[in-house]
Amino acid sequence: MFIVAESAEGNVWRGIAGFFATEDAARRFHESVAEKWKDLQVFPVTDPHASSYPFFLTTEGLEAGGVRPIGEAELKQRLEEAGRSAADEDTILFNVHSVLADCINQRFPGESVLPKIHHYHVMVNQHDFEDIRAFLGISDKPLESDRIGPDDPRYLTVVEKRFNKRFRANPDYVRLASSTDQVVAAVGEAVREGRRLVVTSGGHCLENFTSDPEVRVILDVSPMKRIDFDAERGAIAVEAGATVGETFRALSESWGTVLPLGEHPDIGMGGHVAGGAFGFLCRQHGLAADYLHAVEVVAVDEAGQARRVVATREPSDPCRGLWWAHTGAGGGNFGVVTRLWFRSPDASGDVPATLLPRAPESITTFKAEWSWSDLDRESFLRLVRNHGIWCERNSGADSPNASLWTLLQLHREQLGMIIVRGVSTAGDGAPRQFDDHLAALTEGIVAPKNREVARMSWLEFALNPLPDLFAGPPGGVSMKAKDALLRKRFTDDQIGVVYDYLTRTDHDAMGGMLGLATYGGRINVVPPDATASAQRSSILDIACTTGWLDPRDEAKNLAWVRAFYRDLFAETGGVPVPGERYDGAFINHPDADLADPALNPSGVPWHTLYYQAGYPRLQRIKARWDPRNVFRHALSIQAG
Ligand SMILES: Cc1cc2nc3c(=O)[nH]c(=O)nc-3n(C[C@H](O)[C@H](O)[C@H](O)COP(=O)(O)OP(=O)(O)OC[C@H]3O[C@@H](n4cnc5c(N)ncnc54)[C@H](O)[C@@H]3O)c2cc1C
Repeated sequence: MFIVAESAEGNVWRGIAGFFATEDAARRFHESVAEKWKDLQVFPVTDPHASSYPFFLTTEGLEAGGVRPIGEAELKQRLEEAGRSAADEDTILFNVHSVLADCINQRFPGESVLPKIHHYHVMVNQHDFEDIRAFLGISDKPLESDRIGPDDPRYLTVVEKRFNKRFRANPDYVRLASSTDQVVAAVGEAVREGRRLVVTSGGHCLENFTSDPEVRVILDVSPMKRIDFDAERGAIAVEAGATVGETFRALSESWGTVLPLGEHPDIGMGGHVAGGAFGFLCRQHGLAADYLHAVEVVAVDEAGQARRVVATREPSDPCRGLWWAHTGAGGGNFGVVTRLWFRSPDASGDVPATLLPRAPESITTFKAEWSWSDLDRESFLRLVRNHGIWCERNSGADSPNASLWTLLQLHREQLGMIIVRGVSTAGDGAPRQFDDHLAALTEGIVAPKNREVARMSWLEFALNPLPDLFAGPPGGVSMKAKDALLRKRFTDDQIGVVYDYLTRTDHDAMGGMLGLATYGGRINVVPPDATASAQRSSILDIACTTGWLDPRDEAKNLAWVRAFYRDLFAETGGVPVPGERYDGAFINHPDADLADPALNPSGVPWHTLYYQAGYPRLQRIKARWDPRNVFRHALSIQAG
């Protein structure tokens, strides 16, 4: 345990506490410390709950630099013998308090004996050594990050890192954190100062969860990008600031593995995985959150103290609920995610290449287009119906087409085109797969034009997937997306609504479209309550979206997309109420309209659409881990 404490008079004290499995180990450690760490004082203390396992505290000399000769390897060797469950923290803390009182008295005679503990964490694995190095002053990462004001060029780097230009924040200051300790310090300070804080990783939020004028501090964890194998946890550790593309690269280059992460390489892992996270490979491998083994979170307790917690999937872990919440509740709810550990649920052992799915050998992409002028209402209806039938028939986990992901982009007639794209891992079988897919879609209608097929390595694809899909103008776009998960294909009446909204001329929404992405496959083999991603029986993820450049176009675009969505789901009150046909919506594509009774008149609350039966559990987890509601936004979990 690594501690920074402060006496009532404001003097700062720093120390390390740890445990040994046996008294003998403790004795040997104390002897070696006495010999080598001459500047340090050692305080053996007995833990009443495990009386034979004394722990040590080292104090003086740390600040004076007396420990610098101790190398990381030796420090690690000493501390490897330490380590106990985080569940013991309260007991440990009780003891630490009394020992600190002694320390403070010796260091600063006559000062108060009940020091405040600013922050601490239990050292559980090798990653903590970076923090210890920082603590000892032998790391290049200071304990606190810079407070960056509007006159610093880094301020705009953080504030402008937002995919959706519709929203903008105006914080008092921002921080770029490069270690968990820096996150703890930054969160603690914002809470003490009473400033509303949000965290950002990749800036790909579709709503205003971070880019909100009410926000006073933005904490950006994107400098935290380390990705390595953690032998103690038997899992791949990914720091929260790594992007999806950086994670794909590290997994592929280091071990030939993959996670079924999302479709844009600049998405941040910190905000992405907590929302479930689907992508091109989800039909084959499920959601990325299905591989989450543990998560490190900086949470704030009732007293306003920030501290880090590691929550794992292990059934015996008392913090397991916090892990569960990070498999589908979405970012910005419980604390700052600083590190994620991944391992397939059925994997074990210490060979990193076997802990996650193998990366695809190659990727084949295809694209084909119809011109709106080649389609009348009847053939449009037929195309979308054919597509829905294909999805109903090919979304089982064992379908040979689970290796195929497709996106049907039904653009506004104003734009002129309808596009189908595919991504296949079937290798030599991919062209045939595309032919069959297109044959199914075009049954009874005209064939598409401009067919393109390309084959490439997995990594080449993953780092720049479907380039023209994500290409945007300089300065970016403002957008609105309204998502839904479908258990069944659209009815003909619904396809009629789609046709009307894409072709009607009383609206001017050039960037409007309906996207239909294939879903299902291995996503649907996981029980709805095994993770916080409740939607486990859908075949399609659809989104009504629109984008605009000029802020003056916002109102007409919002009017079009909201009316379109409302009429599409008219039979269930204007939203995709979970039931026979729909499975609600996906929190990684948040839509704040769902919490507005004027825009969601169904009477079904937003949280039922996103979390279904899991919401009360999330509310309890929120009450435990964020009792002060520090981490909040337009669709955040309300403590219950
Ligand atoms: C172009 C594009 C493509 C997308 N494709 C997919 C896709 O294929 N699959 C999919 O599942 N989703 C997809 N998304 C949605 C994306 O996964 C979510 O928006 C995700 O929350 C973005 O995370 P971020 O860190 O990039 O965003 P940010 O805007 O930084 O954060 C989003 C939310 O997460 C919180 N957050 C961020 N970092 C942390 C952290 N370290 N700890 C705790 N909370 C944090 C924020 O406070 C905020 O509430 C896409 C989004 C875009 C814009």
